[in-house]
Amino acid sequence: MDIEIKDLEVKIKDKTVLKGFNLNIKKDEIHVIMGPNGVGKSTLSKVIMGSSDYKVVKGDILVNKKSILNLTTDERARLGIFLQFQNPIDVEGVTNQEFLKMAINCRRETPIGLYDFIKELETNYKDLNFPKEMMHRSINQNFSGGEKKKNEIIQMKTLKPEFLILDELDSGLDIDSLKLVCENVLEYKKESKCSILLITHYSRILKYLKPDFIHIVTGCKVVKTGDYTLAQEIEEKGYKVFESSAKKQEEEKIYE
Ligand code: ADP
Ligand code: MG
Repeated sequence: MDIEIKDLEVKIKDKTVLKGFNLNIKKDEIHVIMGPNGVGKSTLSKVIMGSSDYKVVKGDILVNKKSILNLTTDERARLGIFLQFQNPIDVEGVTNQEFLKMAINCRRETPIGLYDFIKELETNYKDLNFPKEMMHRSINQNFSGGEKKKNEIIQMKTLKPEFLILDELDSGLDIDSLKLVCENVLEYKKESKCSILLITHYSRILKYLKPDFIHIVTGCKVVKTGDYTLAQEIEEKGYKVFESSAKKQEEEKIYE
């Protein structure tokens, strides 16, 4: 799936969170967004998913060259966009199994057979080293932070999306679980050729996922794009130097 974010401006209530935001992601590519807290990274992911908390006041989001701004969240999910939440919510009274069955059937013309469904689910639980009894528990209820993240990846593997947005997938996961989750993501990418947008603060996950591009976001937009080595630069210098050089460029533009 190709995703094009063009000159996007987003407001929450009266606060501008994203402005002049541009990003192009092609099929089978992994892009990473890094940036200080509160610059709008999670906002971007929720806007792509169509959350009604945010208002797009300018620009567009194109999927395979077609605008998705008029689509509901449900329609975007059917198109194959999947968001792994930074803070997955608990849903009391709906089991993982019930939820996944409903979600799968939403993207199919005929409902999935019970045998195929259970087999698929059991494989996915096993791949993530997750006890299969968990499928009978309410979604994320009393799950640890790391278990919630693994549960989101089980959802991803079951739903088979074409564009994955992974918002701080690494937070809450122990070293072994992080490696396992990344292996699952990469394996899924290999078979599906999906595109991936990852938001993270740490270079550790990048060692496993080996992204094609890294983008630094500060001051409402992407201020620098580079390869893997950019993460190293951030680790050494922090974001301040990128913030000030972006500001300088803005000022030069004004005086031109
Ligand atoms: P981050 O880059 O850390 O993921 P967010 O996208 O979560 O940042 O938030 C960007 C800014 O918007 C923050 O200042 C945050 O407090 C604010 N914000 C996000 N969602 C809401 C909301 N629903 N209501 C009010 N403010 C919000
Ligand atoms: Mg966030």
